[in-house]
Amino acid sequence: MSDPKILLYYAFTPIVDPEAVRLWQRELCESLGLRGRIIVSKHGINGTVGGEIDACKRYLKRTREYAPFSGLEVKWSDGTGYVATRPELLKGEDRTPPWRVSADFPKLSVKVRDELVAFGIPDETVVDERGVVGGGKHLSPTAVNKLVAERGDDVVFFDGRNAWEAEIGRFKGAIVPDVRTTHGFIEQIESGAFDDLKHRPVVTYCTGGIRCEILSAAMKNRGFEEVYQIDGGIVRYGEAFGNDGLWQGSLAVFDGRESLDFAAGAAILGTCKVCSSPSNRLVDCSEPSCRARFVACDHHLDTECGEHAAAPAPSSAPRNAGTQATS
Ligand SMILES: [Zn+2]
Ligand SMILES: [Zn+2]
Repeated sequence: MSDPKILLYYAFTPIVDPEAVRLWQRELCESLGLRGRIIVSKHGINGTVGGEIDACKRYLKRTREYAPFSGLEVKWSDGTGYVATRPELLKGEDRTPPWRVSADFPKLSVKVRDELVAFGIPDETVVDERGVVGGGKHLSPTAVNKLVAERGDDVVFFDGRNAWEAEIGRFKGAIVPDVRTTHGFIEQIESGAFDDLKHRPVVTYCTGGIRCEILSAAMKNRGFEEVYQIDGGIVRYGEAFGNDGLWQGSLAVFDGRESLDFAAGAAILGTCKVCSSPSNRLVDCSEPSCRARFVACDHHLDTECGEHAAAPAPSSAPRNAGTQATS
């Protein structure tokens, strides 16, 4: 019996025929019982999938055999378990793949999109065999600490995620732009609100690093002079330093786990939207059509966002986790 695992990965590399890659990836995942979300674009691939550890290993091996994906940036984490599956009978024989299926994702989705992350600048983003052209300088977790030790308060952490993700965890003193989706970033950095950062060292960060590949390049293109990004994002930084570095609180993730702590005793930064008690739980607005997420305590999990609070209470079931854009 092998353990349930989750892979989070991306590669920026020119893809000539994204549709062919989509078909191949879907077939590969189906044959291994993997579920999750994969986006393919002319800029590369971005995915998060879950399944048995041996299925995940085989998936990576096969995917890396395709030369453009040989340098895939991958993070492993623990899944929570498996779902029961029914036999798929074909002429009386069970043709189900011999793998158990991850409980952390409701289904498998493999799509071709204009962008790996929806910043709304597909034509501005330039990618070559080495990755995104013109992005911020990559810093290892140790190099991040060194930069802060050397340059002190001049260094600014800039959160490259949606604002609700930062409610339960962020870097010490980070600037959190008021964005509800990644699409809002370009407007924010063009608004002038952050022009005072243009001559300071800015360390962009996001969950696994992919959003900052694009964001850091977009910031440099808009006059931010000294822009960095953290190699492997918050995930790698947290693995290196737990609660003992410059990261504080919990990390929001886009699968059934919803959030994770790097070590026991992580600070609780969030406060319940209803009663203001400390909490690191993120919930969806209880209006099913709404994409808003916010912090709630255990007593107020069924809550509506500010926009929907005035409407009559709906009686529907919670939405499936994992329908939003990833990492
Ligand atoms: Zn509450
Ligand atoms: Zn709402």
